[in-house]
Amino acid sequence: NAKRDRTGVVVWTAETATTHRADLRQLTELRTGIRAGHLRLHYQPLYRARSREIDGAEALVRWQHPQRGMLPPGVFLPDAERSDVILELTDWVLAEAVHQTALWHRAGFDVPVSVNLSAAYLAQDRAVPTILALLDLERLPARLLMVEITETAVLTRPDQAAARLAAIRAAGIRVAIDDFGTGYTSLGLLPELPIDELKIDRSFVMRMHDSPARATIIDSVIAIARSLDLTVVAEGVEDEPTAAALAEAGVDLLQGYHLDRPQPADQLESKFTQSSDG
Ligand code: C2E
Ligand code: CA
Ligand code: CA
Ligand code: CA
Repeated sequence: NAKRDRTGVVVWTAETATTHRADLRQLTELRTGIRAGHLRLHYQPLYRARSREIDGAEALVRWQHPQRGMLPPGVFLPDAERSDVILELTDWVLAEAVHQTALWHRAGFDVPVSVNLSAAYLAQDRAVPTILALLDLERLPARLLMVEITETAVLTRPDQAAARLAAIRAAGIRVAIDDFGTGYTSLGLLPELPIDELKIDRSFVMRMHDSPARATIIDSVIAIARSLDLTVVAEGVEDEPTAAALAEAGVDLLQGYHLDRPQPADQLESKFTQSSDG
């Protein structure tokens, strides 16, 4: 935000100072909001590409702001990620997601739920012990929890990330690489990574049925995933031609508005009931 003059001295303009204050105010407000219980999780189901059965859900955070209404993560997460607030936010998300998944488990619905972990969270020594303590507290089988990490997060500190992910997997929690294809240097690293799943970024998925280039990229990702024995998820599936093409190409799971929007836990529950009733 600040600018430097020719001598390298940081110059604060009135404008940058105002923006900075606004960011700080929202960050402080977010911290207060987390503690006041204003965060919510919405769950977006993942469907098996062929049978179209629900095979999991991704937990996505929202901020139920007292004045501004339900805020999507794009509005507050980038600020949070530039500060320690992301750690507190992620602690809340993990606790809430594990609790909800355990409630579903006890109700007879074994739906694996995935949580997005930012790089800063994973970089903490306490990350893995914290997650394991939550599973223990809620008596949730580890196979019902998944974590999603972006390629970029892994690439920041590949050795440390790989060690952390290995510890997570050793406990029985599954690991997905999120937004796959957007961090182009990671291909060589992929065989070294202790992961279970690749989530193809929605930029490749959207309108793939009329873009041969995107379809080719998706075919390559599927081939790589097969050779490494990974599950392939396509996100951002917005129409049936795309869903059908992805199923045909061999993608395992589909996620996107065409199948379902992210929604509160209680709304999703009725769909589990429907699917178990046949
Ligand atoms: P993501 O992990 O890639 O999550 C998928 C995003 O795509 C979600 O946006 C979801 O609502 C949206 N989406 C799903 N289907 C479609 C579709 O068919 N078309 C389009 N255009 N979009 C679709 P959302 O909920 O706004 O989340 C945005 C991002 O914020 C997430 O992207 C993730 O990177 C981050 N995020 C969300 N919740 C958390 C969290 O609890 N912790 C962390 N660290 N990051 C989170
Ligand atoms: Ca994700
Ligand atoms: Ca994603
Ligand atoms: Ca994304």
